[in-house]
Amino acid sequence: MIGYNKFFDYWFHYLVKVKNKYKSIGNKKPAKALINKDLYETLDMLKTTNEELYQIFNLTADGMLVIDPDYNILRINETLLALLGIDREKAEGKKCFDILHCTNYHTTNCPANGVLSGMGKIEYEEEKIFNKEKKYFVITATSLKNTEGQLIGVVETFKDVTELKQTEKEIKKLIYYDALTELPNRAYFVMQFEKAFAVAKAKEGMLAVMFLDLDDFKYINDTFGHSIGDKMLKNVAQRLKTIIHDEDVVSRIGGDEFTILLSKIKNMDEAANVAEALLNILQKPFHLNENEFVLSASIGISIYPMDGDDTETIIKHADMAMYQAKKQDINHYKFFNSSTKKDFSNHFNLVNHLRNAIERDEFFLTYQPQYDIRSGHIIGVEALIRWNNAKMGMISPTEFIPLAEDTSLIVPIGRWVLQTACSQMKSLQDEEFPPIRVAVNLSIRQLHQPDFVEMVRDIVKETGFDPNWLEFEITESIALDKFNYNISILNQLKEMGIKISLDDFGTGYSSLSYLKMLPIDTLKIDKAFIQNLAIDPSNKAISSAIINLSHTLHLGVIAEGIETNEQLQCLREQNCDYVQGFLLSKPMQLHELRKKLQSFS
Ligand code: C2E
Ligand code: CA
Ligand code: CA
Repeated sequence: MIGYNKFFDYWFHYLVKVKNKYKSIGNKKPAKALINKDLYETLDMLKTTNEELYQIFNLTADGMLVIDPDYNILRINETLLALLGIDREKAEGKKCFDILHCTNYHTTNCPANGVLSGMGKIEYEEEKIFNKEKKYFVITATSLKNTEGQLIGVVETFKDVTELKQTEKEIKKLIYYDALTELPNRAYFVMQFEKAFAVAKAKEGMLAVMFLDLDDFKYINDTFGHSIGDKMLKNVAQRLKTIIHDEDVVSRIGGDEFTILLSKIKNMDEAANVAEALLNILQKPFHLNENEFVLSASIGISIYPMDGDDTETIIKHADMAMYQAKKQDINHYKFFNSSTKKDFSNHFNLVNHLRNAIERDEFFLTYQPQYDIRSGHIIGVEALIRWNNAKMGMISPTEFIPLAEDTSLIVPIGRWVLQTACSQMKSLQDEEFPPIRVAVNLSIRQLHQPDFVEMVRDIVKETGFDPNWLEFEITESIALDKFNYNISILNQLKEMGIKISLDDFGTGYSSLSYLKMLPIDTLKIDKAFIQNLAIDPSNKAISSAIINLSHTLHLGVIAEGIETNEQLQCLREQNCDYVQGFLLSKPMQLHELRKKLQSFS
């Protein structure tokens, strides 16, 4: 430890310096008397307390430094020496800025400067003070005055706030970043957008905001589970980052939704190029847990200054354009325009109207006959829901069923369908038509309702419809999520005599080994494979394979979407069992079906 003498030396040295300083600047006060008085008084005090004081000065948690008005280091404590990683000898006789490699320390930003030019106290935050280690300090510079109130130096304390900064960083990360993908989140996006927006406004520049939504993500998440979904999102984030430059922002604002800010564009083409690049990079297959996934996305773009004059509007318009892009096609981008707005308000209207549709009696069922391909007899019908809204007219189920599935409205709607199909078919049977099967489409969400089997049992009981003539059409997603649970539900339905058919077969991701375990009766070849049957040899191969597979598994097979005689002929050659399509019959209401059945009998 540096002893009393050395401490005294410093202090003395310091006071002498101060004396000289005051001399040199022509201080009118009697410097000598002043210095002597200070010196002796101080020494007097130090005689009794210096060891203690010295220890306190050295051991305090903050770095401390005393400089004279010429920036000469008069005192420096052990804590600051340790922080700087230098020996006391290296600090002695130096100017403060020789040892403190502060970024701005010797400029006007230097806190000592401010204090020396008359400001009483300055607090100053400094980062990267030392070359060796990045540290953050709060430096407080306070004027040191003698008993006469004259400025004789500056005392600086260095509070190490590195840890605090680290915590702050972590908190910021929580507030501004998405934990899963490590992309910025909505809050950060909005903040950055506002900055860029202010610049664009001032410089009459251009900005683009993109809203990107993955097309099949919900399906993947629901069927393959969240851990695959999460991996997928991380991978998507990585890919998006390869397209978006540093000065722009890509953020994840929820689920499978991403927003992108392009702040340096000069025209719409540039935004379109970026959108295309984003769509392309997402289309490359993803390999996760030995599965290969091919994704597509929809992008909506809005441009400042054309599409809005405030943050909220511009972001909202990009969202609307995305919604419209999604509706048009998969893997699509769309710029906002005035028709988007109209379309979007429709979307919200739709959900609101859908909530009231049952009460208002706006649904009705149509039935599309299914035929035995060999005999040409009607063997059953598929019940297909129709929605006729007073204001909006007829709305296609391809439009409102996904919406109903997203909002759980599918549960009451599905119940209504089953109830209506059973009671209408019962009425036909009561009219003594030969019985035909009715196929009712089931959403997986309905099946997962805890009281689903109960509900089915109640409905067949209430309507008196024989469940042996009831069939449920389920999609392949049944084979992937909650597999064992689904099997147990299907078995309970089968015990009631209900048939199960696997709809849209060939479009899902299910593996055959799973399918084999499902208690199903029929495979339904998706109409996508039927549509190009006569022209596309690969579709021909697919339908043929599905038909053979069904027969190997002792299942019936039905093809849907038959529109031409060539398609029908082809399916006949391939030995398909049943057919359904516009060529044979369009979906029709009960009274038309009655007529149709009459003409057959
Ligand atoms: P889906 O189950 O695949 O139903 C077959 C769709 O193909 C029906 O469309 C039908 O009208 C149409 N279709 C039939 N023959 C042909 C044809 O020859 N060519 C073409 N291009 N299309 C044909 P729809 O009625 O518009 O239903 C669309 C989808 O809505 C259905 O597809 C089904 O997924 C869903 N859906 C309809 N009704 C219900 C329901 O009651 N409950 C549930 N959960 N979904 C339903
Ligand atoms: Ca169907
Ligand atoms: Ca289908």
